[in-house]
Amino acid sequence: MGEKREDSASVTRRTFVGAAGASLLAGGAAIAQAVPEVPNRAVGRPRPRDLPAEPLPDDRRLGFAVVGLGKLALSEIVDAFGVTRRARLAALVSGDRDKARRVGARYGVPEDALYGYEDFDRIAGDPRIDAVYIVLPNGLHREFAERAFRAGKHVLCEKPLATNVADCEAMIAAARTAGRKLMTAYRCQFEPHNLTAMRMLRRGELGEIKVVSADIGRAADPTDPSDQWRLDRELAGSGSLFDIGIYALNGARFLLNEEPVEVRAQLFAKPGDARFAEVEDVVAWQMRFPSGVLFNGSTSYSYAFSNSIQVIGTGGIMTFDPAIEYHAQRLRIRAGGQDRVIQWSPIDQFAREIDHFCASISDGIPVVADGEEGLQDVRLMLAILEAGRTGRAVATDWGYRRSADPATTVPDGQGVA
Ligand code: NAD
Repeated sequence: MGEKREDSASVTRRTFVGAAGASLLAGGAAIAQAVPEVPNRAVGRPRPRDLPAEPLPDDRRLGFAVVGLGKLALSEIVDAFGVTRRARLAALVSGDRDKARRVGARYGVPEDALYGYEDFDRIAGDPRIDAVYIVLPNGLHREFAERAFRAGKHVLCEKPLATNVADCEAMIAAARTAGRKLMTAYRCQFEPHNLTAMRMLRRGELGEIKVVSADIGRAADPTDPSDQWRLDRELAGSGSLFDIGIYALNGARFLLNEEPVEVRAQLFAKPGDARFAEVEDVVAWQMRFPSGVLFNGSTSYSYAFSNSIQVIGTGGIMTFDPAIEYHAQRLRIRAGGQDRVIQWSPIDQFAREIDHFCASISDGIPVVADGEEGLQDVRLMLAILEAGRTGRAVATDWGYRRSADPATTVPDGQGVA
């Protein structure tokens, strides 16, 4: 698996309290209240912790085909459609027909909306499908994105966008040719702790930022099929950097709202560890930003589960730990003589991300994490690996600027109104 997961049923059922549905747990004290179960909807399993705004009527929600029914799709994404306001689960695409039938039966997806990888192109004739959500191994993202665009559908694609620059550029070009939208599924950009932090940093509440540090990694299990492709260069692109180190990179970029101009790195894999025959293990890297901020981070597929990001300024420190959980982020802020813990009640980041994509399609608002945003991380990760291999600093100021800042584009609260 990519990130640590928890069984959604084990998540404490809490709701948002206070204005605009926001729950801030200040000073470490939990403010939460139990909520009753809400009735099931036709598609998906509602999560009481989200209590979303009423979904739009079926005919006004966009239909999604989920492509790939692996761990992430089954543990998070199909369920997210139970709390999306603007999207509905319309179709499933899998290489395993029996699995697709079982999942379809559970989530109300009819037999004639189950597709295989071979007959995927038939979605062109299925008006129930407006967009596809690609949840396949990284090396397959380009092929399925191009096929989806040829079928006239919009594409929300899991991170990393692809395993190399050429594939990312081909996906962006295919979207343009088709006149359809492409989004990279960076869920953290829709996550309340991250949005809170972005806004505080934009307001200068930590003073002048000096250093960002992050360590995000875990131990890969070569007996787990979901990790086997992650240790295969062609399917994964690289080791943990492309899988979870990407959160440190993307997080530093969106927290600071600027792009690194230079990267340096060191790589290490223990000789004889068969997991690292094709992909990197430890990557420790530094980045320099135009404002002078320095980033220092690491990622690994052999160390204990680690999941933290820290921002240090002249006026305070903010620490995300855990930083990339699906349902239990935590942000500690020490600034202005105060020491606070901000802990929003769990929300569904995937649902927020999907609803944002729908808003961008239906209302024409800019996609917060578009194809170029996915390309930028792939280019930077490749520069980091080059720096590690050569032992030299690599210049990365090739002029990229994000088209939309999540801090100002994504609203607070639940879902995207
Ligand atoms: P997984 O291995 O559990 O699932 C992948 C699915 O693709 C499986 O159903 C598998 O059968 C299918 N597949 C089709 N062709 C395949 C092939 N040639 N080799 C291997 N599998 C093949 O992986 P996952 O953890 O669900 O990850 C899928 C994607 O989602 C990846 O791009 C990953 O980076 C991303 N991901 C994102 C998050 C997040 O929080 N946003 C979390 C985990 C994974």
